[in-house]
Amino acid sequence: MKNVDRRTGYYDKAKETMAPAARRRYQESWLRALVAMAWERAPGVRRRMEAAGLGPKGLSSLEGLTRLPVIKKSAMPDLQRADPPFGGFCTVPMKQVRRIFVSPGPIFEPLGPEVGSWHMETGLYAGGFRPGDVVLNTFAYHLTPAAHMLDEALNLLGCTVIPTGVGNTDYQVQIAKAVRAAGFVGTPSFLMTVLKRAEEMGVGGLPFQVAQVGAEALPESLRRTFEEQYGIMTRQGFGTADIGMVAYECPEKSGMHLVDEAIVRVCDPQSGEPLPNGQIGELVATVNHHTYPMLRFGTGDLTVIDDSKCPCGRTSARMLGWRGRADEVTKVRGMFIHPRQADEVAARVQGVLRHQVVVTRKEHQDLMTFKVELAEGMEAGPAKSVLEAAVRDVMKLRGEVEVVPKGTIPEGAKKIDDQRKWD
Ligand SMILES: [Zn+2]
Repeated sequence: MKNVDRRTGYYDKAKETMAPAARRRYQESWLRALVAMAWERAPGVRRRMEAAGLGPKGLSSLEGLTRLPVIKKSAMPDLQRADPPFGGFCTVPMKQVRRIFVSPGPIFEPLGPEVGSWHMETGLYAGGFRPGDVVLNTFAYHLTPAAHMLDEALNLLGCTVIPTGVGNTDYQVQIAKAVRAAGFVGTPSFLMTVLKRAEEMGVGGLPFQVAQVGAEALPESLRRTFEEQYGIMTRQGFGTADIGMVAYECPEKSGMHLVDEAIVRVCDPQSGEPLPNGQIGELVATVNHHTYPMLRFGTGDLTVIDDSKCPCGRTSARMLGWRGRADEVTKVRGMFIHPRQADEVAARVQGVLRHQVVVTRKEHQDLMTFKVELAEGMEAGPAKSVLEAAVRDVMKLRGEVEVVPKGTIPEGAKKIDDQRKWD
């Protein structure tokens, strides 16, 4: 795959260059079909609509859709517990569900019979992936869907996937060399780890030409290193386990184009009212996904939308990066952590007076420190090891436990203190 043009062309030019009026017609046509089907087959969706005094007709236009109150991602665990396993949001019987993914919460996401429901192909093409690329997929293949989203989309695009999953860096280096992998997908920090490891092993440069990274922030300084030092065109998208990929970067890398299969608005995180383009607010998405129709799904992620013209020729608006979390939920190494989880960890040891999770960043890696104040006379050592095991168990992340003197953690301090700075 030498001299491949990765920077021009479209995956589906007709859609990607639609005029605004045509895009509205297209989106309203799938919206009507989606709402009608969800009303019939997804009792959870129907309950939401009825509670708002709306029927399918009321949601048949882009403006009408905004009358439906936003459903918060943070509400999903309770809704699903009340109507297991999917909260009434799945439109197909279990025998048609291909996979059930489990995200922290827990939140269960069904994958139905249709292929391409995560809408990731357009973004991968815009990001430089081409048919014939052999791609190392280093996202985890268990529980959460990220690896499967990429895997399926790469296949649809005509790429060959090596499902390595995470871990064993030396093996990843050997495999990438052996199969001449042109593509990498995974977290940006792991891409850095693999590249550095190849240098340490003295095996020469890796054959990567293109990378789609995600699940954590991509600082511009790190992207420059990938692109200028290693010659890897590096792009990212925005998506969640619930809604698939809703935005992706083009060769211009100046914001992420919104996919045509998602109606994305930036809304007031409290009221759910749509905000004018250019203002910061919560990303709320309605996605053309027949098995799991998420209507006005509030991701809890803050962003800004820009509808100015992009030089690449795509006509869709762009979201301008990730600007933090609308609530206290924080993303660490691609996993969300909740204040509730911090409480759960602290409860594993009797005598924890105060606790706080501090998230920092060192050399492009997220670091999580679980700070605790212990009751008088308690031994730090045993408490520390129990808490470290609890962090792994509850948060599915590694984190250091630090016993701090009494009075270090202020009263009423945030349970999760995110001290990371993004360029
Ligand atoms: Zn563009």
